[in-house]
Amino acid sequence: MAKLPVAEENIVKHFGPTLNYAPKDGYVGRDEPDEAVKTHCCFCGMQCGIQLLVKENKVVGFEPWMEFPFNEGRLCPKGVQRYLQNNHPDRLLSPLKSVPGQGFVPTSWDDAMDKTVSEIKRIQEKYGNDAFSMLSGVSLTNEKSYLVGKFARVALKTKNLDYNGRLCMVSAGAGNKKAFGLDRASNNYSDLEYAEVIIVAGANISETFPTLTHWIWKARDRGAKIIVIDPRMIPLARTADIHLDVRPGTDSALYGAMLKYLVDHDMLDHDFIDNYTSGFQETIDAVKDYTLEWAEEVTGIDKNKIREAAELWGKAKTSFLLHARGIEHHSKGVDNVVGCINLVLATGRIGKPYCGYGTITGQGNGQGGREHGHKCDQLPGNRDIENPEHRKYISDVWGINEKDLPGKGLSAYEIIEAIHRGEIKGLISICFNPLVSLPNSNYVREALEKLEYYVCIDFFLNETARHADIVLAGSLQEEEEGTTTSAEGRVIRIRQAVTPPGMARTDTSIILELAKRLGVKDKFTYENSEAIFNELRVASKGGTADYYGITYKRIEDEMGVFWPCPEIGHPGTPRLWEDRKFKTPDGKAHFNAAPYKLPGEVTDADYPVILTTGRVVSQYLSGTQTRRIGKLVDQYPEPLLEIHPKLAQQYGIKQRELIKVSTRRGEGIFPANIVETIREDTVFIPYHWSGKKSANQLTPGTLDPISKIPEFKVCACHLEPLKEIAAPSKESTAYASV
Ligand code: SF4
Repeated sequence: MAKLPVAEENIVKHFGPTLNYAPKDGYVGRDEPDEAVKTHCCFCGMQCGIQLLVKENKVVGFEPWMEFPFNEGRLCPKGVQRYLQNNHPDRLLSPLKSVPGQGFVPTSWDDAMDKTVSEIKRIQEKYGNDAFSMLSGVSLTNEKSYLVGKFARVALKTKNLDYNGRLCMVSAGAGNKKAFGLDRASNNYSDLEYAEVIIVAGANISETFPTLTHWIWKARDRGAKIIVIDPRMIPLARTADIHLDVRPGTDSALYGAMLKYLVDHDMLDHDFIDNYTSGFQETIDAVKDYTLEWAEEVTGIDKNKIREAAELWGKAKTSFLLHARGIEHHSKGVDNVVGCINLVLATGRIGKPYCGYGTITGQGNGQGGREHGHKCDQLPGNRDIENPEHRKYISDVWGINEKDLPGKGLSAYEIIEAIHRGEIKGLISICFNPLVSLPNSNYVREALEKLEYYVCIDFFLNETARHADIVLAGSLQEEEEGTTTSAEGRVIRIRQAVTPPGMARTDTSIILELAKRLGVKDKFTYENSEAIFNELRVASKGGTADYYGITYKRIEDEMGVFWPCPEIGHPGTPRLWEDRKFKTPDGKAHFNAAPYKLPGEVTDADYPVILTTGRVVSQYLSGTQTRRIGKLVDQYPEPLLEIHPKLAQQYGIKQRELIKVSTRRGEGIFPANIVETIREDTVFIPYHWSGKKSANQLTPGTLDPISKIPEFKVCACHLEPLKEIAAPSKESTAYASV
């Protein structure tokens, strides 16, 4: 049973999080490294180029990689500290087994593998193949993502595989497919520089994708107008021309009203609409009543600001629209995304220089990881697992009979629900910390405790791994060769800088060994990561995410290659849609009606305040890595409740007073941070922490019906000041970033 073997404090004592700082004078060998390895930051979707300095098989520092074209040497606070996760005192050095009363004790690889394989077989023989599930992460390289997808379907023979991109960009992916038939940002980011108007919707770029700020500032320096849509006055909004402080959960009302304004004032590209799109009339019919006055009432934004934004967007000759989780983490996430795309299509500003649209991928390999088959409904090349032709093609590549290829499985949160129902009994996870990152974390914890067997592959013992029966010590990003795909759609090389320490193994070798012991060694014989990539190339050939023409050599020679790249001699595609041939069945870009609908939970007398969640600059997602790096924690040591002075006054709340925040799912206590940079009806809590500091104790498991993304960005809460001031932080500048 996947319960904690000893009290959590004892586990934390041995496995952290421990704060790792660089030695005062730097690591020995920092000034005379054996090697400077050109690779990429392991964190967000910007995938900034970086050089890791290596001495005697240890990463001892970093240098900027000035030639890499996206970030040109720039790095954010996470990038400059990321090397400290290597050589970390919490690093898992051997397989562990959970022993009740003792904790996690080292064991041999043979023992760990034998136990895992025998439990997989036992559970599947007793309950069926789909009773064993798999959850994976998109910090994994393309090769590992592909391998996980194949492993789950061919070795585990389960349909229930999903990934933590489900919590990230799936609404964008689904919206992109509906509109364009393909899921990728339409341009590389250098096109931003000459855009006349840039809309940034629900994307705290300066904190969550900091190096992208540079491209927006370049445009601003050339006179571009910047429009930021966000309930908080995020750093980018402070220098924007217009800040639309949208009420959480009302985004589609705003986009609908802007679209109606464009129609009413004939700010449309009729040639583009008539010749290259479909669905325009139904879409504008859906917003025909969305006046500026109505939109002001629903969204809480001054109607004059909405008009001004629509005017700027409508009159621009070149433009770019970017969005991220702020509009995607909703039970109407796909509606929000297509609402944005409708504005782009109405003005025809796509597929041309300095005109584009894109979601900003959050996770390191959020783009590539969502293309090659570790989603519950997808096969490599962004193929559909329910499409007979796609199934046949991939079955042939994998050398299996199509009838043996499992069908569509459950999404990440649905897997948790199925564990509760007793339908799923076993779980293997890799680089995913659902106890922190999924909504309604108390419900997730209860699910973990119901599992008959849980095996976790990871390099740190994160909060979810503490529930595992067996932990297989896997590899950090810099311990294996591979590729990732940045938010621009650029496929890049991840280089192995060091080998895994102690008895830890590469993730790839662990998966291959499990496949061998599950009796399918012949389907999993690869000499190295490049061999996996070469099979991925073939598997993706003919799919919308076609990597066939991309090779390791080309990536290195060309500093990355943009997919689609269907042939060896193909140059790659930095800017999509220049040919106006979209990947939809009719070859046209699709408008999609996106009428405004209420969020899954609205405020009422019991829960009168809107709660929204997000990230801070120094932390990354569930914090498995960044809560272990000293300076990143110093910068923002604990989650704070951001609240507007007027709302604080209403409750008599003082700065840093402890506030009990309750929702229908749970409660947590957070120090108040009274700021004028948030709407008066909304509070914000960052979600990187666990246990009593977890924002996701509060968030709902309401899912978007199409993308199955949870609604992290809006729920109803109750505030109760506890009349106790939180102890001061030891770092006086700890919250400088908020
Ligand atoms: S912007 Fe993203 S990829 Fe670049 S250094 Fe920061 S966390 Fe790493």
